[in-house]
Amino acid sequence: MSSFKDFSFAGKKALIRVDFNVPLNDAFEITDDNRMGATIPTITKILKDGGSVILMSHLGRPKEGPTAKYSLKHIVAHLSKLLNVEVQFANDCIGAEAIDKAAALQAGQVLLLENLRFYKEEEKGDVAFAKKLSKLGDVYVNDAFGTAHRAHASTAIIAQFFAPANRTFGWVMESEVLSAEKVMHAAQKPFVAIIGGAKVSDKILIIENLLERATDIIIGGGMAYTFFKAQGGKIGKSIHEDDRMPLALEILAKAKAKGVHIHLPVDNVVADDFSNTANTQTCDSGEIPDGWEGLDVGEKSREQFAKVILASKTILWNGPMGVFEMENFQAGTKAIAVAVAEATQNGAFSLVGGGDSVSAVNQFGFNNKVSYVSTGGGAMLEYFEGKTLPGIAAIKG
Ligand code: AMP
Repeated sequence: MSSFKDFSFAGKKALIRVDFNVPLNDAFEITDDNRMGATIPTITKILKDGGSVILMSHLGRPKEGPTAKYSLKHIVAHLSKLLNVEVQFANDCIGAEAIDKAAALQAGQVLLLENLRFYKEEEKGDVAFAKKLSKLGDVYVNDAFGTAHRAHASTAIIAQFFAPANRTFGWVMESEVLSAEKVMHAAQKPFVAIIGGAKVSDKILIIENLLERATDIIIGGGMAYTFFKAQGGKIGKSIHEDDRMPLALEILAKAKAKGVHIHLPVDNVVADDFSNTANTQTCDSGEIPDGWEGLDVGEKSREQFAKVILASKTILWNGPMGVFEMENFQAGTKAIAVAVAEATQNGAFSLVGGGDSVSAVNQFGFNNKVSYVSTGGGAMLEYFEGKTLPGIAAIKG
């Protein structure tokens, strides 16, 4: 498969699946345009090559067909500004207006189609709907990594209507895939996976898959308490899942058998209430008094985790070490960010993926100090669970 930069779009109409699912306020103003900004280099390259661009995206979750609130027309002005091109708009993503405007498109011009999810066929992965969309362009470009784990009409099904030479990833998608593949299939050892977040149940598949690949797994956040309780420790009123305790023990046993080092916190910042103003103290793991709950990893754990991270050549981070949204419980997550940044500066490859760890590195200002920050929460998680992502498979064929 040729890379996006080698693809020539001269004289071609590129139909690009983008992720313009941006948050809008009540006045329909965009409150965070990161997703739009990410795709600008893809669009610009195609226009510079001498191609034209037809953009398709979803916005929000419209339930019953066309809904004014979810119209992509709200983003046309901002997109025009970002591209420095007057973006045209079609009031429908299929149908006469879309067909006519796409057909009339000249090199250097951009057309945005109305919200794909105004048709139920989009999420159902309807083949006839995908075929209609495919008629609008000569080349299909998928640059929406955030929806790569969905087999929707525009993200996967549509690809079959383009010959392999006429379909490609865009910049965003290509860099996401390359970074993920580097960690999953070509990780230099030692390889540490840092897994945090609230629940074991959300992260079980990713841990199981990483047991096959990583040399070290750091487990922090709320999910650690299920492990401590399963081992007979006292966890007070910390978050935990009783029904996942056997699974936690199974993970520890599997790791031991495979020679993978699991690092659980040795101490915890505990609070008498789930609040930033609660009383706090530090307790060793397994010794949390009744009425107290663990909301962050303690200082000894932070030092131990940092040592493991600094000794690693590949780092994957998914999930915070504590309730980082509250100032008094963010030191653990911040310490991880500092260590990952330092390891990266020393030459390690670091990938941060999955919703909350991404918000954490952004919040602490570390996004430029790691090798790669993934934009696709659910998609990246499913990739590291070992699943085939329909959006990737459809392009690769
Ligand atoms: P996830 O989306 O699974 O990565 O979980 C992220 C959420 O886990 C964040 O909102 C954190 O506040 C929460 N979390 C992390 N550690 C704890 C903890 N010790 N107790 C309760 N919630 C936690």
